Amino acid sequence: MTDSFKALVIDDVDGKQVAGFRDLTVADLPDYDVLVEISYSTLNYKDGLAVCGKGIARRRPMVGGVDLAGTVLESASPDFKAGDKVLVNGFGLSETEWGGYSQKQKLKSEWLVKLPEAFSMHDAMAIGTAGYTSMLCVLALEKAGVKPEDGDILVTGAAGGVGSFAVALLAKLGYRVVASTGREETHAYLKKIGAAEVISREECLGSGRPFDKERWAGAIDSVGSKTLAAVLAQMKYGGAVAAVGLAGGNDLPTTVLPFILRGVSLLGVDSVMAPMDKRVEAWTRLATDLDTSLFADMITTEPMSNVIDLGAQILKGQIQGRVVIDVN
Ligand code: NDP
Repeated sequence: MTDSFKALVIDDVDGKQVAGFRDLTVADLPDYDVLVEISYSTLNYKDGLAVCGKGIARRRPMVGGVDLAGTVLESASPDFKAGDKVLVNGFGLSETEWGGYSQKQKLKSEWLVKLPEAFSMHDAMAIGTAGYTSMLCVLALEKAGVKPEDGDILVTGAAGGVGSFAVALLAKLGYRVVASTGREETHAYLKKIGAAEVISREECLGSGRPFDKERWAGAIDSVGSKTLAAVLAQMKYGGAVAAVGLAGGNDLPTTVLPFILRGVSLLGVDSVMAPMDKRVEAWTRLATDLDTSLFADMITTEPMSNVIDLGAQILKGQIQGRVVIDVN
């Protein structure tokens, strides 16, 4: 059929979730009010889980892709018209709603953010959920009163997507950033994007005691588990940690001591269902606070045909920075 287009679809095969490429038509898409021609999507950790069949797609068939940027083709909403450039992050895409690994998608108008003028669609997906979520973390630390003069800010999982943007954004805002990574080969990269110092995952774990030497004024943690517990134990008096990820596990083996003896704050950050005003605030700040010249070091662009292999790599912690997915 002439109006068919390509999409990555996760479906049930012999009791397992399996991803593969399919030709769809507009008639196959959900009955939502805006039809978008997609230019780019991205690769996030959650996309890796989805395309490797690890239970992210809560209904099947599911079109993968947590993020998308594209051009409105048709709109039944007064808020958008054909030709508008838009982006979507989260809102259940690839979990309960069909996502961005497709050349076209129908979406609810209330999920769409107008593309900030500062960014091309490729830029917007270079940033993607990882960059937008990092900005939500920075906003959370700012609201908690963490200032550059308070001391060092730790970023864990620093060479990943969320971590890389956290390093770059915090450095541009004048914070002294210490990046924790498990990959020695990323040290030069992390320094180039703004880390003043790079430490190993082991050093980040400190003494392992639940109440450790005070070291960090603030932290952005994409690892969770014993890493987040160690970060909490090393927070300075009154410091704040934005907890955003679980790359190292979803448990949190800690005690109440950092909270009740040092007044440490643990700030939960969710990007998926974040309200529109927060999204617009984050994208507006990204437009002013992100040095896009760093993209040359941070971003690679890959065709959608590679997304299943790339998904397996991100789950093994082998992806540096961000991958933009060209769906066309
Ligand atoms: P990436 O895979 O790009 O980054 C994760 C990084 O964590 C890796 O690069 C690695 O960094 C580190 N890491 C991986 N495995 C381990 C491990 N076993 N122990 C310690 N460190 C590890 O993923 P993203 O940046 O896309 O996402 C990071 C996390 O944030 C994920 O858990 C994701 O689900 C979560 N997330 C949450 C969001 C929210 O709304 N709350 C939104 C977006 C992401 P290094 O090599 O430098 O050590």
